[in-house]
Amino acid sequence: MAEDERALADQLDTALGRAGYAVDRAADGPSADLLVRTERYDAILLDLGLPGVDGLTLLRTWRDAGIVVPVLVLTARGSWTERVLGIDSGADDYLSKPYRLEEVLARVRALIRRAHGHAHPELQSGEVRLDPRHTRVTVRGVDVTLTSHEYRTLACLMHHAGRVVSRHALVEHIYAQDRDRDSNTLEVFVARLRRKLGASVIETVRGVGYRMADAPGSPEPDA
Ligand code: CA
Repeated sequence: MAEDERALADQLDTALGRAGYAVDRAADGPSADLLVRTERYDAILLDLGLPGVDGLTLLRTWRDAGIVVPVLVLTARGSWTERVLGIDSGADDYLSKPYRLEEVLARVRALIRRAHGHAHPELQSGEVRLDPRHTRVTVRGVDVTLTSHEYRTLACLMHHAGRVVSRHALVEHIYAQDRDRDSNTLEVFVARLRRKLGASVIETVRGVGYRMADAPGSPEPDA
């Protein structure tokens, strides 16, 4: 998330964190650029009026560099020219300030869903269902209570269902910036998820990472 207004950034950070996302923050153009070029994100919230380098310039250089992460542009109130420029520069969606946090979250969910090629808002793998709208997980229709780290691990695997997710990518999804990134705890989260959801739900791909079955079938053998 790139937003230089501290209060707005705090608000977004809290709302996104509650919704189960690991959030990195940048308060100016150059730090946003550095984060986007060094980390892997599911989506970017980009304020256009950033100090250092403005959002539109950042967006153009990212798209020119082949960075295809979905971008939700946050524009000043009523600035239709900014919206047009934003979309023409490669934004996937935009919101004008002041926005409702619920709408930001809904648009972020839609961006991530579309980026993964899912039309349906609910994700499914075998008998496990995950609803990002309510951060709700069920197995055969029964609610399962997960910690935020377990939820992030599961959501990342389910967004990439049918594909192997590397340990590195998972760790990046679980932890927000500047917090302890201990990849050993990943095994702990996976073990707990298996205990709560069923042992065969998450497949270990040795030396690489983990995989969940694409909805609603069973895991494919290695190609
Ligand atoms: Ca600003």
